[in-house]
Amino acid sequence: MTQARLSGKVFLIGAGPGDPELLTLKAVRLIAQADVILVDDLVNRAILRHARAGVRVRYVGKRGGCRSTPQSFINRLMAHEASKGHQVVRLKGGDALIFGRANEEIDFLQARGVMVELVAGITSAQAAGMALMRSLTDRAHSHGVVFLTGHPRAKEHGSTSPASPIQTTNYAAMIEQGLTLVFYMGLARSPQIQSDLLAQGISPDFPAALVQRASCTDERVFRMTLGQISACVLEHDVQSPALLILGRVAGHSAFRSETDFATLSEIAGQHLGAEIPFDPRARSG
Ligand code: SAH
Repeated sequence: MTQARLSGKVFLIGAGPGDPELLTLKAVRLIAQADVILVDDLVNRAILRHARAGVRVRYVGKRGGCRSTPQSFINRLMAHEASKGHQVVRLKGGDALIFGRANEEIDFLQARGVMVELVAGITSAQAAGMALMRSLTDRAHSHGVVFLTGHPRAKEHGSTSPASPIQTTNYAAMIEQGLTLVFYMGLARSPQIQSDLLAQGISPDFPAALVQRASCTDERVFRMTLGQISACVLEHDVQSPALLILGRVAGHSAFRSETDFATLSEIAGQHLGAEIPFDPRARSG
């Protein structure tokens, strides 16, 4: 094994949901050091401005239903570049580990002795919560969030892994337990999700939302009820990428006017929220 092979590495980096500022400092540093960058289609290309001159950028998009770069090609390309001693950055939309087939890539690379490092990104569900101006775990309505694929049985083109064993998900049970459901890749199947939930006894008035291109400048937010999902998609021509959210937190916010105008010191007393000395020039770990 050569020294070059030892020093090559693949970084699987979450590029965030779209807003190029929703990138970690670590991601920015690694992008700037990369020899080659592989870019998925949901990644905002503006992020590439952090790359150094002369970097090689390769587009390896694969969108559901469209002609796409085979996974096996992407795997081999990453391993090949790393084996030449290159720093390979693989940029994936949102968080690289959420519905990104990351495990297939990690397994492939590690089986060939290629070092892999993971860098977290902000997943689109988080950006959708921000778009709704709601916490998806609002304790009054929800004790948890479930990230679901809208394609539980889908087996992606070129995949070597078996289709998901999740054949019939009981969404209604999750809703009845007070969970917020976030469907990734659920737009095309939203009529089916809607009718499944209605058939499982969830009220047509149950709150739902669709967030298209969360965090992007052309973000669109639609609040509706379960019974209105299909009509909303058609009427507003909602396009991918979009998330479908079902949960009481998706309903209109019940704005509570602030009646307590006590001063902060009255609330907190002398000690709570006390200022601490801070010197921005003093460096710490
Ligand atoms: N790893 C990504 C998800 C990849 S699956 C993440 O963490 O966000 C692709 C699906 O993600 C899309 O079909 C869509 O449902 C969702 N998605 C990705 N970016 C989005 C965005 N900016 N707004 C809304 N949905 C988005």
